[in-house]
Amino acid sequence: MTLPQRLEQIKSELPDGVRLVVVSKFHPIEEIQNVYDLGVRDFGENIVQELLPKYEALPKDIRWHFIGGLQRNKVRQIIPFVSLIHSVDSVRLYEEIIKRAASIPRSVDILFQVHIAEETTKSGFAVAEAKETILELCSRTEDAPFRVVRGLMGMATNTEDSTLVGKEFATLNQLFETIKSSLPQPQADRFNILSMGMSQDWQIAVREGSNLVRIGSLIMGQRTPSHRN
Ligand SMILES: *Cc1c(COP(=O)(O)O)cnc(C)c1O
Repeated sequence: MTLPQRLEQIKSELPDGVRLVVVSKFHPIEEIQNVYDLGVRDFGENIVQELLPKYEALPKDIRWHFIGGLQRNKVRQIIPFVSLIHSVDSVRLYEEIIKRAASIPRSVDILFQVHIAEETTKSGFAVAEAKETILELCSRTEDAPFRVVRGLMGMATNTEDSTLVGKEFATLNQLFETIKSSLPQPQADRFNILSMGMSQDWQIAVREGSNLVRIGSLIMGQRTPSHRN
């Protein structure tokens, strides 16, 4: 299949209400422009130094999703334009985002990343501590002008075992619902994004309640091995 066919195929399989973010990391500007020309406006990147030139060169109505490990000393560079940060995985990173958003000032949409996989290399808040920590951060009223906590993100274990992957996504969905039901209004209504599912597991993620999938290679093609994340 060609790229436009792969994109159409996935869009036709996604249920209503599930957003698609096309992960364009390691693909050059011209290829992203081609996907933009097919109507895509949501793109995901995981490295600040790669995102900045893409942001400069590409149309300004793109919604850039930051999905990778974010170093605190790089936050300042993406805060002016980033649409949604999926990968807030520590209190210190959260606090840096608030500080940089306040200095503009603007309000930034964020997701908290939760560690649901077996691999220790993946990051995020531990499931056991996530609820308490996230509710505490959400209760900081002085931060309210500078962030909207939109929900949770997680990555499942990289395995053929779809039962395990399904369980991990179900755990995240449960946590999402628990936190949402503990939040006061209007925060509860705005806590409405559950970002889970990539090329190899998006169908399982959608079955387990995802409403935003982050798909790279299935649409954009393989990244070169040295660039695999
Ligand atoms: C690379 C990446 C994706 C997309 O991965 P594919 O397997 O290419 O679909 C999704 N989410 C995160 C956090 C990533 O780093």
